[in-house]
Amino acid sequence: MPDRLKTVLLFGAPGAGKGTQGSLLGGIPGYFHMSTGDMFRTLDKESELGQIFYEYSSKGELVPDEVTLELWHTYVHALAILGMYKPYSDLLILDGIPRTVAQTTLMEKYIDVLGVIHLRASNQEDMIARLHNRAIEQNRIDDAKEDVIRNRLAIYERETRPVLNHYDQSIVHEIDAIGTLGGVLSNILQVVAPIQDTCHTNPAKV
Ligand code: ADP
Repeated sequence: MPDRLKTVLLFGAPGAGKGTQGSLLGGIPGYFHMSTGDMFRTLDKESELGQIFYEYSSKGELVPDEVTLELWHTYVHALAILGMYKPYSDLLILDGIPRTVAQTTLMEKYIDVLGVIHLRASNQEDMIARLHNRAIEQNRIDDAKEDVIRNRLAIYERETRPVLNHYDQSIVHEIDAIGTLGGVLSNILQVVAPIQDTCHTNPAKV
């Protein structure tokens, strides 16, 4: 793998639509979408890590930084070995990480952040309604209870939002999270397509 992976962060509060937009983007060749929520949910619930995940996520809390980082790194490496993610040619679209300032610092040696997409929703009640509907549709315990949702939003404000200040503001792009799927995707593509172009001017190593 290259020393530092060319990366764009999908950033935003729970319910802003990072996962939906990330998977749309990931369907386009040249982008690889990786969600840490999905990564955690694929763990065997009987395994030690699976239990740790359940313990935290059921309360709407974040999994500790060291555990998260170690699993993330192993996971990315495995995806690259399996050829699903092609680190020399794909732009990595990270969704759900880094989620704390400590994670941001720990990840610096692994990722070269070329852009941050901040999906912003002006109305928090809309986000809560979205999370609630998703919980019912996808059977997600973390979003089923309103107090858990509110806890997740509070943790986002306290732990995650400060991550935005870590990056040079010239690479942070504010995008309205409310709109049609195609409309929001189009706004995201206007930011990420030029970034992908610059990655391709450096010939890929194999
Ligand atoms: P959403 O997309 O709704 O914000 P995710 O699906 O990304 O939520 O995450 C679900 C749960 O997985 C989180 O509540 C948290 O417990 C855990 N998680 C995901 N990413 C991280 C991370 N970077 N650090 C710590 N915990 C995480």
